[in-house]
Amino acid sequence: MTLPALGVLGGTFDPIHFGHLRLAQELADTLGLARVCFIPTGTPPHRNSPQVSGAHRLQMVRIAIAGNPVFEADDREIRREGISYTYDTLTELRDELGERPLCLLMGADAFAALTTWHRWQELFVLAHVVIAYRPGFRLQELQAALPAPLRKIYLRRLAGAPGMLRVSAGSIVTREITALDISATHIRAMLAQGSSSRYLAPDTVLEYIDHNHLYKDRDAR
Ligand code: ATP
Repeated sequence: MTLPALGVLGGTFDPIHFGHLRLAQELADTLGLARVCFIPTGTPPHRNSPQVSGAHRLQMVRIAIAGNPVFEADDREIRREGISYTYDTLTELRDELGERPLCLLMGADAFAALTTWHRWQELFVLAHVVIAYRPGFRLQELQAALPAPLRKIYLRRLAGAPGMLRVSAGSIVTREITALDISATHIRAMLAQGSSSRYLAPDTVLEYIDHNHLYKDRDAR
């Protein structure tokens, strides 16, 4: 019998906020995931360096998910030398999990940029890809805006059948989730100005930020 699927949510989590947590919770519930593993990136390939260290971002993830038995934090990308590639992470996880179904969770914005990811076409061999989108978002528009090679794969792999999570990898699944228009960029900007970010991220995370004087200015590490 196949074990229930595991979810992976990668991100800079600079800092983690309710948009990330809600995405993970709703996808875990609707897909019946046994666990969602939050994996903070070490050195991201296609964006500026995170504003605070991997150790702080990992600790904020740990604090944010504390008490949720379905969530766990994984420090492998923080520990790994060099640029963090999702491909490497999924390859490691696949070795550890055998044939167990694995779902790479992401927002529609992240999926639209997938062709910029290292060895992106091979990600589908390693995991299913689950695209979360907000109510009112038009998947037809996403489809039309995708670069041709990704659009082709999207149409070919889009799962119609509910049983797709019983196999280890290879499908694309789309799921509507509650819209929470929160971004870490906005939170960082508010913190740098000294404004309150309360109710955008867990109080415990905001207390950690305050206690460690994070995001006070752009160069803080
Ligand atoms: P930044 O503002 O620094 O770019 P971010 O808030 O977008 O950060 P990331 O760590 O880059 O967060 O995102 C990790 C994943 O979480 C991505 O797949 C992204 O699509 C998703 N995500 C981020 N914010 C939200 C949100 N408010 N609602 C749903 N998904 C989100």
